Amino acid sequence: MQLYNKLSAKERAELIDSVGANRLTLSFYQYAKIGNPQIFRDHLYITWDNLDVLGRIYIAHEGINGQLSLPADRFNAFKTHLDSISFLKDIRLNVAVEQDNKSFLKLKVKVRDKIVADGLNDDTFDVTNIGVHLEAKQFNTFIEDENTVLVDMRNHYESEIGHFKNAVTPDVDTFRDSLDIIEDDLKSHKEDKNLVMYCTGGIRCEKASAYFKHKGFKNVYQLEGGIIEYTRQVKEQQLENKFLGQNFVFDDRRAERISDDVISNCHQCGSPFDSHTNCANEACHLLFIQCDACREKMDNCCSEDCKEISNLPYKEQKELRKGKGNSNQVFKKGRSENLKYKD
Ligand SMILES: [Zn+2]
Ligand SMILES: [Zn+2]
Repeated sequence: MQLYNKLSAKERAELIDSVGANRLTLSFYQYAKIGNPQIFRDHLYITWDNLDVLGRIYIAHEGINGQLSLPADRFNAFKTHLDSISFLKDIRLNVAVEQDNKSFLKLKVKVRDKIVADGLNDDTFDVTNIGVHLEAKQFNTFIEDENTVLVDMRNHYESEIGHFKNAVTPDVDTFRDSLDIIEDDLKSHKEDKNLVMYCTGGIRCEKASAYFKHKGFKNVYQLEGGIIEYTRQVKEQQLENKFLGQNFVFDDRRAERISDDVISNCHQCGSPFDSHTNCANEACHLLFIQCDACREKMDNCCSEDCKEISNLPYKEQKELRKGKGNSNQVFKKGRSENLKYKD
């Protein structure tokens, strides 16, 4: 599936015909000054709800970040609406590699302080002074250069199931943590090495590259459009794919397969496996990797304790949770001592 804003109207029409009534999953972001995020939010919600858009969209004074799905036959109307908004005109839409009609179940448009929770104080550096964007082909050349340090800007549970060959994958739970670790590791190479970074759809690298330039790195590059756009270009231009495994995504699909390599293991038995699940105990909900055999054996749970709780009648489970804080670990740490094979 390929669909992006460079298609002519005719090509787009043909493509949408071929998809029929199916839904398209896509994402986009844009840093832009938005004066009144609440009014903008309401406008988007009303328009997109009418188009049967589902997904999760964040709006802040600094811009918009959206992941969504919509019926293919509504795509033209959606695109026309985007083009009617000055800072979204002709924006690149990252379209998912694997289409799935169930990627999102609701439309949520939320006003936030920031469009990515990056933990940075933007007033301390110039966020517009970003690194050089690389297309897939250039990126492939750069990462073969021995003067390049390739860094994965995502969190540990994302890079664990898929990453570029030879990438440094910081073992971090948050974006903010990775910045300090990378700076420290590379502090003696700020001028002589190429710092090349990537993330899922490119948005995290926009901030990270500006931050590293502010910290004195001279040669800062980033993969434009992230792994999603890289994969599209690799297919379209028949380039060598240097990404191994699955691309973790933040919707109900959890990941999309980019190569057949399975580079991670089930956290419970150690056998090769690369799909995440959430612990079935509502009070735990830990994100971890569990193979089919372990899933069956453990009733979808991360530990014997959770299995015991999740098999209790719902009323008793609720009783147990009373007074305890809500421990929702969906996209959080993904770490637990019960998981023997989690590094
Ligand atoms: Zn297993
Ligand atoms: Zn659990």
